[in-house]
Amino acid sequence: MSQEVRVRFAPSPTGVLHIGGVRTALYNYLFAKKNNGKFLLRIEDTDQSRFVPGAEQYIKDSLAWCGITPDEGPDQGGDFGPYTQSQRKDLYKQYVDQLLEQGKAYYAFDTPEELDEMRETLKAAKAHSLNYNSISRNTMKNSLTLSEEEVRAKLDAGDPYVIRVKVPAKEDIRLQDMVRGWVNVHTSTMDDKVLMKSDGMPTYHLANVVDDHLMKITHVIRGEEWLPSAPLHVLLYQYLGWEDEVPEFAHLPLLLKPDGNGKLSKRDAEKHGFPIFPLAWQGEGEDAELKGFREEGYLADAFVNFLAFLGWNPGTEEEIFSLSQLIETFTIERINKSGAKFDIQKAIWFNQQYIRATSPALLGQSLIEQVKSEGMTCDENKATAIASLLQERIDFVPELWSKGQYFFAMPTEYDQKVVRKKWKETAQAVLPQLADQLHETSVTGAEEIQAIFEKVLEANDTKAGMVLQILRVAVTGEAGGPDLMKIMEVLGTKEVAERIKSAVSTFATMTSDS
Ligand code: GLU
Repeated sequence: MSQEVRVRFAPSPTGVLHIGGVRTALYNYLFAKKNNGKFLLRIEDTDQSRFVPGAEQYIKDSLAWCGITPDEGPDQGGDFGPYTQSQRKDLYKQYVDQLLEQGKAYYAFDTPEELDEMRETLKAAKAHSLNYNSISRNTMKNSLTLSEEEVRAKLDAGDPYVIRVKVPAKEDIRLQDMVRGWVNVHTSTMDDKVLMKSDGMPTYHLANVVDDHLMKITHVIRGEEWLPSAPLHVLLYQYLGWEDEVPEFAHLPLLLKPDGNGKLSKRDAEKHGFPIFPLAWQGEGEDAELKGFREEGYLADAFVNFLAFLGWNPGTEEEIFSLSQLIETFTIERINKSGAKFDIQKAIWFNQQYIRATSPALLGQSLIEQVKSEGMTCDENKATAIASLLQERIDFVPELWSKGQYFFAMPTEYDQKVVRKKWKETAQAVLPQLADQLHETSVTGAEEIQAIFEKVLEANDTKAGMVLQILRVAVTGEAGGPDLMKIMEVLGTKEVAERIKSAVSTFATMTSDS
């Protein structure tokens, strides 16, 4: 590619950035980096009525969490700024003026009631389309039907108006989408979309096309929901005289519900209790509290890896890809045409894989943070040891704390089933002896503890299988878990001795009650 690749992620800060939006950003980023190009962040905030405070910061924070760093954007700057559309407002007027002058756009003065009436009439007449288009515009109040003097008078009087694009009546618009192939649209099916309102604010369509042109965007990679707008955008490129510079388009497949029936929605997330937003969000109204992947305990790398595979695959069996490996491997050709089913189990699987591949020391740091927030302390060695014992057994990092409670406090409850089944004569003899030995000893390592344990077993003429589980319950309260000798090493022999003694007296009452 001779020309520098320049792509953009162009979200509107009208709500919380959904996982589909993060995927769009990711694919743009991967494509840019793969081709040594530039990835831009552009905030499309021209629809001020839908502005949501905090949404822009949420977008930036989400990208930062994923490691998707814009080369140019509102915070990074760049040669093509500003990168926030509301700050570019004055720039768009000249293009609308050009279109008006050339008869490719026109003023329309219809009130909302008149527009409703138009649709009703068209509906009653069983018209093909209810659009404001090459047929219906001839019956409406616009600069095509009104005289020049009437238009001038209305403008001078300050009557509210919009400027609409004049879509040709009978033409074919063709575009080649990199994902979907050729798209052919007849202009009779298109709408004379509004390009600008009387307050001088451009609509999405105009601002988007003008900015893509001015920012020298070479590839427009965005969600499938924008495919119906693409023919209009191509027409605007032609109208503005930029037909030789139309960017390439790639419309990404929809994200589908887990069962594949329909678009993934916030309702699905609520119903199944899984997150579909990158970060937690606290807002007002229906978005009062939204779950985030980050807060649910997903590692950013695992989330990104999962996201990359929602609609793309490398063509091999391999599934674990770091961000830089994704950059190396990513191609638009391998994006699927069909929708991608959202499967939270797959997200959990990725997270497990990444947790297992993370160094215990690093996981230990997260545990230390968690422990601190509980008002306790934990030194690095202990945290690392706990992480290394639990990392194969957890799906989410916060489980180091929730599943590792017994490393920080003596159990308050014991697995009843095991106690009832295993608190028998042999155990009643072995456990107190073991407690005494462990109290006396100065050894610390798991293997040496194991040796002491075996000696006690031998003295009582029994096997580990007879007492190991009840010993585990005495030390941790739980019936299962990682290597018990290693747990005892982390706890220390004195602590273990105390726990066994305390358990022994509790077990006695538990079994006598029943
Ligand atoms: N502002 C649009 C959005 O919110 C951008 C669509 C596009 O990428 O053209 O998704």
